[in-house]
Amino acid sequence: MCGVVGYTGINQAAPWLLDGLQTLEYRGYDSAGIQVVSPSGNLHGVKCAGRVATLRERAASANPVGTCGIGHTRWATHGAPTDRNAHPHLDGTGRIAVVHNGIIENFQELRRELMAAGHTFASDTDTEVIPHLIQEALDGPAKGDLALAVRNAADRLEGSWALGVICADFPGTLVCTRNGSPLVVATTEDGAYAASDVMPLASVTSHVLQLNDYDVATLRADGSIEIRDRNWRPVESPSSFDIDWDASAAKMGGYSDFMAKEIGEQPEAIERLLAGRLGEHGIELDELSLSREELAAIDKIVIIACGTSYHVGLVAKTAIERWAKVPVDVEYASEFNYNEDYLVTDHTMCLVITQSGETADTLSAARRMRGMGCNVFAITNVLGSTAAREADGALYIQAGPEIAVASTKAYTAQMVASYLLALRLALANGKMTLAEVQKHFHEFEQLPDLMREVLSRRWQDKQAAARFRDKTSSLFLGRNVSATTAYEGALKLKEISYLHAEAYPSGEMKHGPISLIESGFPVVAVVPADHVHDKTVSNIQECLARGAVVVAVATDGDEKVAKMCQEVLWIPQCPDQLLVPAISVIHLQMLARYVARDRGYDVDKPRNLAKSVTVE
Ligand code: GLU
Repeated sequence: MCGVVGYTGINQAAPWLLDGLQTLEYRGYDSAGIQVVSPSGNLHGVKCAGRVATLRERAASANPVGTCGIGHTRWATHGAPTDRNAHPHLDGTGRIAVVHNGIIENFQELRRELMAAGHTFASDTDTEVIPHLIQEALDGPAKGDLALAVRNAADRLEGSWALGVICADFPGTLVCTRNGSPLVVATTEDGAYAASDVMPLASVTSHVLQLNDYDVATLRADGSIEIRDRNWRPVESPSSFDIDWDASAAKMGGYSDFMAKEIGEQPEAIERLLAGRLGEHGIELDELSLSREELAAIDKIVIIACGTSYHVGLVAKTAIERWAKVPVDVEYASEFNYNEDYLVTDHTMCLVITQSGETADTLSAARRMRGMGCNVFAITNVLGSTAAREADGALYIQAGPEIAVASTKAYTAQMVASYLLALRLALANGKMTLAEVQKHFHEFEQLPDLMREVLSRRWQDKQAAARFRDKTSSLFLGRNVSATTAYEGALKLKEISYLHAEAYPSGEMKHGPISLIESGFPVVAVVPADHVHDKTVSNIQECLARGAVVVAVATDGDEKVAKMCQEVLWIPQCPDQLLVPAISVIHLQMLARYVARDRGYDVDKPRNLAKSVTVE
């Protein structure tokens, strides 16, 4: 959620801070601000509710001058998204400026205590206690040491934070720390940079350093970075990684929006994911770091995820149970964390699926599973993310940066990643022979071309989108794995077009949602050629009989569906039913995008949503 950037160096800070905030826009936010400090110690800030573009306009007229600064995009948790509540926030003396991602859970106690000591507050945010605490430390026990003052202040906090701090008394110094919210730093010839993810840093470096929880980093104008851990010991060799894509991957190219670009990138993402994965002895998945015996012993898997990744989990369950014959539970992370009765076996494995690798609920669930003695494996898109670092093993889907808030390419790539895991398990526990594994893998290799075929049919989605004009609600149906495609299609439509979409397994429709149907009501039915096809066709008939307009996702040559339904989004024949979810969903991603565009919405930045949900 939201974003933090910071810079100190030889250049003016404001231009890069603004560019950095712009690349962080995809994370979702409602206000933005920057603060710079000039070499002579003058603080100058600009902030506002609304977009970075507005901030840019204000900054152009205010012209903040300084070579050290911090910036923020805020996703409000405490206090309305107003100019006043936008970050940076200052201490009472106006010398210290702070940007913060996360939530301070004990801010009320701290605020009361600070007010009793004479501090006054200018915002409704939880964040504002932080600059005041730093001021207290700087005037007291940490006199003359900004980094120590930040640490002392952070020691008082409960909750989650990624902080960027500057101070008029230390003009070229930027101090950063984190707990539970991501933060990376980088050193370059032009100075030192900080950001809440690698996206803004890709334009200035290909190598970043990671901070661990409670590490405090001091960034200086000569580009040097000094990191100390919680015990105030220097961190000599912080963990680091290379950004494996260049800055152009985070640009729109010739597309009109990132969502279109990312939908279109799915075939290449799958090709990258599969490259080199089939070896002499089966699926190469060294990331699992479990021996064949340990894999064979797994007697239960719990998949934990949120949102779109949860839907991946539902399809993964079918694949793992079908191929590896290991029972699977799929749990919403936010629910799992409060289910005290969850039962594990001696050999339960936990699989967490999180695009960003920073989803707060999923991270908590993974920690809990580790605490229960389970091996935790992560499927994620972000190298060096917290989920990847904390898991026993992590599979990077390598889909490249996903910038549109509504996930598309990560969905299908995570799905195929889970299939690789399923095959690996099936071979290890003897439920499949090597020849069978190879056959499945070669079928996966057909996916990119099947996806390209669906992408070439986008005109069908554009045409079907017109059926949603002036509608306020819709129903998505499907059976078996296609029920999951229906859930995901409905989620996409809700997320970006703000049109209500209810998703149900087709057979459940009669137990309630059928009462929604009236003349002209749009129903999307995912009805590929599979063993439940005829059952879903009967459900389509029931919808049509009540006046619904049915948009079907069906397999080439399905005359029955073609005759019945007002619109058909055609998918090619697939060699395996489990490949269907990865291609049929593409139609629904495009459908949602066309509906949202017809309604005039920004498909990349849907209201209220954030790309990586770093608060619980
Ligand atoms: N909790 C802080 C606020 O509401 C920070 C929110 C954020 O992470 O942007 O201002």
